[in-house]
Amino acid sequence: MSHPQAPHSAKLRCCICSEPISALWQRQQAASEFPHCQSFDCSRFIEQRRNLPVNLFRAQLESVSAQYRERKAAQLEREEKIRARVEAEEQENQQLLNALLKTRPGLAEQDIHRTVIPSGRKRIAPVTPQRMENYRAHLQKIVAAAENFVSAAEIVEDQNLHYAADSHRNNNCFQRSSALQSVSDRLCTMCRGACCSSGGDHAYLSPLILRRILDSNPKLSGDDIVAWYTSSVTAETIEGSCINQTATGCSLPRKLRSDTCNAYYCDAILNYHRDSNEAGEARNVFAIQREATFAGTIDPDTPNGVLATALVTEGGVERFREESG
Ligand code: SF4
Ligand code: SF4
Ligand SMILES: [Zn+2]
Repeated sequence: MSHPQAPHSAKLRCCICSEPISALWQRQQAASEFPHCQSFDCSRFIEQRRNLPVNLFRAQLESVSAQYRERKAAQLEREEKIRARVEAEEQENQQLLNALLKTRPGLAEQDIHRTVIPSGRKRIAPVTPQRMENYRAHLQKIVAAAENFVSAAEIVEDQNLHYAADSHRNNNCFQRSSALQSVSDRLCTMCRGACCSSGGDHAYLSPLILRRILDSNPKLSGDDIVAWYTSSVTAETIEGSCINQTATGCSLPRKLRSDTCNAYYCDAILNYHRDSNEAGEARNVFAIQREATFAGTIDPDTPNGVLATALVTEGGVERFREESG
């Protein structure tokens, strides 16, 4: 087997993986019959040269470098597929918006924020007595822990403390613009809480949150607070998601939710907030729902068709297309 590149070429490549050899390392490798890069795998492979007859080593090198070339070709093909799909989805998203604009002479493209939102679970199921019991037991445990403190200000360690600042920021933002909150809530309802599936039977509630509720409702006992929370659970919820996630969004009033819940927004919503803040008003949204919001993050062969589209405004949600199932 000959050298993959002339020994003194400025682009000397590894005889095993075909990656370029770094400039510093090239000087040491230029005179070698088997120039190789410094990766762990290639260095380990080249070690075999010491113990094998040269013909056998060459045969193994041929086979291993062919495997590397095939892997590289497959990777390039995959990257190209991803790039093509990202572009195709972007075009399809724009075509869907264009189709809407054609039917609405009153709407201008610059008045619309176009976004792709995720898709949460769909199946609805009755809340089992066991789930309800788990939730109640969690609430009783954390309300008892909350009652060990005189006020929320005393709590310096809590899973929700980390999210308190972001939760506060979102709250302020919504107080300035109730339209922004309405549109955001509608988008989350359309999504059916893709980010809520880990909420399980605890809903990220912790002693800090319950202590705050006790602080602002001094006439209520711990049992009253537990009953307040459990009464917010609906008979049917989204299967496999948080106990408070329903077909029409989170059933827990925002003021009872954890900071984790009130702080978190996915990129689609955060971009919408940014765009609206820059515009100085809550913008109307053309929402396209797909399984994955960005095709670049999933396998290029996994389907990611449009599941639904809607115009979401402060006034309501107008759905145009929804796949069944
Ligand atoms: S924040 Fe994003 S992922 Fe979570 S419910 Fe809202 S739209 Fe869905
Ligand atoms: S309480 Fe509401 S916002 Fe929080 S995880 Fe559950 S469904 Fe989502
Ligand atoms: Zn290499």
